[in-house]
Amino acid sequence: MKAPQRPARLKDLDFSIVQQCIHCGLCLPACPTYAATKVERHGPRGRIALMRAIAEDQLEPGPAFAREMYFCLGCLACATACPAGVNYARLFERARAEAEASGVLRSPGRNLVRAWTLGWLFMDLRRLQWLGRCLRLYQALGIQALLRRSGLLGLLPKPLRRLEAMTPDIQPRFSAALVAPLTPARGPKNYRVAMLIGCAQDLLFSDINRDTVEVLARNGCEVSTPPKQSCCGSLHAHNGELELARQLARKQLDQFPPDQFDAIISNAGGCGSHLKHYATLLADDPRYRERAALWDSKLKDIHEWLVAIGIRPPAQDAPPRVVTYHESCHLAHGQGITTQPRQLLAAIPNLRLVELPESSWCCGSAGIYNLIQPEMAGQLLERKLNHIRSTGAAIVATANPGCLLQLTLGAKQRGLNLRLVHPVTLLAEAYRGRYCSGGPCRAGFPACR
Ligand code: SF4
Ligand code: SF4
Repeated sequence: MKAPQRPARLKDLDFSIVQQCIHCGLCLPACPTYAATKVERHGPRGRIALMRAIAEDQLEPGPAFAREMYFCLGCLACATACPAGVNYARLFERARAEAEASGVLRSPGRNLVRAWTLGWLFMDLRRLQWLGRCLRLYQALGIQALLRRSGLLGLLPKPLRRLEAMTPDIQPRFSAALVAPLTPARGPKNYRVAMLIGCAQDLLFSDINRDTVEVLARNGCEVSTPPKQSCCGSLHAHNGELELARQLARKQLDQFPPDQFDAIISNAGGCGSHLKHYATLLADDPRYRERAALWDSKLKDIHEWLVAIGIRPPAQDAPPRVVTYHESCHLAHGQGITTQPRQLLAAIPNLRLVELPESSWCCGSAGIYNLIQPEMAGQLLERKLNHIRSTGAAIVATANPGCLLQLTLGAKQRGLNLRLVHPVTLLAEAYRGRYCSGGPCRAGFPACR
């Protein structure tokens, strides 16, 4: 039986969500786009008013509405600040779906890019890995460096030039080559967990997946990491493709039956925030909704899980290091996980955590925001890097691939000597007693993060 398709219009959203906002404005100082522009419609209160007007048939979803929804970062800082408990995450997803359903942003180029990426590339990770291998060859054979030096890339249209300049380093080996499908617990086995390798995370940060599995195993977990996995669908849900997001959620539920695991682990803030809401996504699907509810209860962010089970302390001979911590929006605001990453860092001997001013203020990455809104993303990146500089730390820990990419690119462009690293990697290094020196990577990974 085919599951019924759920309408993606704002007017079909539960009205109790649409009318939650009491217009108090307490969220405005927390909103990065409002702070930068001081324009009401560029803040949460104005955006919610637009959404409600559409839900109540007082406004048609025209181009101005659609553009506004894509100017919003989806960072959810407003949800944290809101005393009325407005569910901005659901409003935002539905508003972007409304913008797509209205078709007001359609153009041949945009349609092609969306069909190729959201509709094809990210629907089967073998395709993404194939593209990753091609890009890896392009980089490893020196073609990228040659083309950049030749100036030929200057002939590309501006959006493509920008995209090329942002092409991240692809890992020489993806997660399946670094992690066994089943990793036994080191010492007594207390838990059986599944580990999600992600899509971009697998291509760009497979070393973090390797470190996550090792840390889990050292903390009494047997870890199941099947080599063939699916994208979680967060990219689709945040870009107005809710039906594709549902297809991917069903694939995850089929691959990882939640009753077989004590926990299902995500180490990416953005993915985890979406992965914890499969029950809402599949609420109208009688075949999957119960399994989805169990899945949501088992889905754990890596920091959340490690703190809950108790972190085994590493040896005490670590070198002294100063680290600051940038909070991924969807870890802090989407999942409410703020203390656990700091607790994980505090468990590492000789590591001094210097608090980052505005640590949960968006860095401008926000999924693909830095590609579609480069000006605002650039302003946010500058603000973030200035704060990082003020801490004096040479190591910045953060737990989301988008943030790692955005900050790495920003640091590289400005010639800053920063190491961008996932907190779990710092813990894995402390367990091994081998620490990154900041020089060329002996493990064969690209430029040290
Ligand atoms: S999600 Fe972020 S950018 Fe969008 S309205 Fe809320 S605080 Fe502002
Ligand atoms: S979203 Fe929340 S904080 Fe912002 S205006 Fe509405 S009720 Fe107030």
